[in-house]
Amino acid sequence: CGIVGYLGNKNAVPVIVNGLRRLEYRGYDSAGIAVLNGKLSLVKCKGKVSDLEAKMNNSIEEASIGIGHTRWATHGEPNDTNAHPHTSNSGDLVLIHNGIIENYSSIKKALTQRGYVFHSDTDTEVLVNLIEDVMKSEGVHLAKAVRIALNQVIGAYAIAVIDQNNSDQIVVAKKGSPLVVGVGEGEYFIASDATPFLEFTKKAIYLEDDEMAIINRGQEIEVLSIPDNRTIDPYVHQLEM
Ligand code: GLU
Repeated sequence: CGIVGYLGNKNAVPVIVNGLRRLEYRGYDSAGIAVLNGKLSLVKCKGKVSDLEAKMNNSIEEASIGIGHTRWATHGEPNDTNAHPHTSNSGDLVLIHNGIIENYSSIKKALTQRGYVFHSDTDTEVLVNLIEDVMKSEGVHLAKAVRIALNQVIGAYAIAVIDQNNSDQIVVAKKGSPLVVGVGEGEYFIASDATPFLEFTKKAIYLEDDEMAIINRGQEIEVLSIPDNRTIDPYVHQLEM
């Protein structure tokens, strides 16, 4: 299982697909990609990255922001619907996740009572809707909603989330599953390990557990502590591989 993401001036589509291929060694049963280029394009399926590419069939052309995922199913069988990315009920939020949300069923119950509908059997779809519910009920922006939502979650995760109305931002967070941000010139890469972006940059920020990062186009990355909202000065590793 693995996650990748890209925000910058390159075409995100090949960066993400090639990145997913470099993470194939981690093992997976499904793959998916979502990019924003004026609209959301999302393709996902059970099977290999090559099956994903066949399903994309060159339908996704160019985009400067996107996320991709390989899934190792823990909640819900491997099928097209359970594959990531998952979208929120409004369709605005798009999220990928490696790990397990242990308390997903109580959150799912509460969200169902609030009118949310679930299409997959995954714990992940619960998280993307919890973030949406926090955004709507508390009137906060995405990054703040991610932090509030994660403070209600028990489990392990590496996540990346985008809002289809904002093609300039990716929010990521980590606890128990790996997540590294590659820092290039005016571009950022996200991945489970550095292999997807080594050809583009040797600068990497390894998020620690309980940390999240707000990645905005053309700006410095902002790293925060999830429990207490403290700003963290990230250590930028110089990779030698
Ligand atoms: N628990 C999530 C699922 O079953 C994510 C699994 C993974 O780490 O790929 O969909």
